[in-house]
Amino acid sequence: MADDVFDVINPATEETVASVPMASAAEVDAAVRRAAAAYPSWRAVAPGDRARQLRRFAEVVDAHTDELAALEVAEAGHPVGNARWEVGNLRDVLHYYAGAPERLTGRQIPVPGGIDVTFQEPLGVVGLIVPWNFPLPILGWGLAPALAAGNTVVAKPAELTPLTALRVAELALEAGLPEGVFQVLPGRGTEAGRALVDHELVRKIVFTGSTAVGKEIMARAAGGVKRVTLELGGKSANIVFADADLEKAAAAAPMSFCDNTGQDCCARSRILVQRGAYDRFLELLEPHILAVRAGDPNDPATEMGPLVSAAQLDRVRGYVTDDAPVAIRGTVPSGKGFWYPATVLTPADPLDRTVTDEIFGPVTAVIPFEDEDDAVRIANATVYGLAGSIWTRDIGRALRVSRGVEAGNLSVNSHSSVRYWTPFGGFKQSGLGRELGPDALAAFTETKNVFIGTE
Ligand code: NAD
Repeated sequence: MADDVFDVINPATEETVASVPMASAAEVDAAVRRAAAAYPSWRAVAPGDRARQLRRFAEVVDAHTDELAALEVAEAGHPVGNARWEVGNLRDVLHYYAGAPERLTGRQIPVPGGIDVTFQEPLGVVGLIVPWNFPLPILGWGLAPALAAGNTVVAKPAELTPLTALRVAELALEAGLPEGVFQVLPGRGTEAGRALVDHELVRKIVFTGSTAVGKEIMARAAGGVKRVTLELGGKSANIVFADADLEKAAAAAPMSFCDNTGQDCCARSRILVQRGAYDRFLELLEPHILAVRAGDPNDPATEMGPLVSAAQLDRVRGYVTDDAPVAIRGTVPSGKGFWYPATVLTPADPLDRTVTDEIFGPVTAVIPFEDEDDAVRIANATVYGLAGSIWTRDIGRALRVSRGVEAGNLSVNSHSSVRYWTPFGGFKQSGLGRELGPDALAAFTETKNVFIGTE
């Protein structure tokens, strides 16, 4: 029996789903050594064979959609429709990067006296540190390009949500991936997470989570000059101009900050509305907030589940205190579960901490602005820079404001932020590097230059 066990709690029922042993630093060391031992032969697999193995892995994941979605519902409280989308995202990202091995080519560069060629080589063992908010997709975003490029992977899921990742590791073996190529070790951040970051055989860390932990990881990785990809917090602005289709913007707004119960790094947790449209926008927003269907995650009609944990509920309550300027509040079930309603605040102070901090709950602050410059200034008045939306009918304005906002992922007249074939990542303290799309592959390889003298 392991000394350290973590109880996984169903956030909708507060029942214990499983008790999971937490890996020690010694177990992380053993897993990294297995990954290092598996690396030379995985790297040497012919590109077409590696592609086939990833496709097979994707198909096995797909065949287990019901089971993986049920686990995600149980450990994270996600509505079942969302959970099924998450499994599909993992499948799709595996398929997408299965197209990479044969295309990962170098260059030939003209030089005098010989031939100069470059090779794109894998790094070795990659450590993935995964958060609890999107356990399956975020696992896949690191795993798929890392494996496609010929690296081996040790993943540490979040304490709260290890069950889906553990099952995916079993499915990888069922799909025929060799032992040691992909391992999952549940563990605490401060023990297993740190051990992975510090391990001398780990060449790169991919981390998604809080900015505070991201800073620590970056500092620790400096010791071994490890590569890092960091996807951190956000406080993204949803900018609504008076010339926009206000009804459409208001109808779309709730899910821009309530999707995944607001536990989304891209959540539009600030809505900036041009002053002339401010009152009208709030009026239009209200019925849509009241219509957010929060309830049993197993009901396919449910749009919003509970928060992930009692601690996360306390955190959100700590921000929305009794004297908070609540303009609109939705409804949630009573009784067991870590429920928090969709909440719209109208703080008078633009530097209120509900406007500056990542709350990570279904809470947004609506604040007025005067003109384009003012909108860009307010949108950028944060240490974060992950995502944002711009609602306007003026294409020139949409482009000017898109160029002005310091964020990695912007959408015009939409809240869509993530597609697995386009680059995703943050400016400023929202992160370092890009995931997804073709850009991510470069982050899992080194470029080697070889000169062959011909004289
Ligand atoms: P966290 O950053 O502490 O945890 C994320 C992952 O990092 C987990 O796997 C955790 O075990 C691991 N970890 C924690 N400390 C570590 C360390 N010192 N070294 C290595 N790994 C470590 O996030 P949290 O505590 O679960 O959530 C706190 C807040 O972080 C949330 O309320 C939210 O604001 C933010 N958050 C953001 C994201 C995001 O996607 N941007 C995801 C999760 C949490």
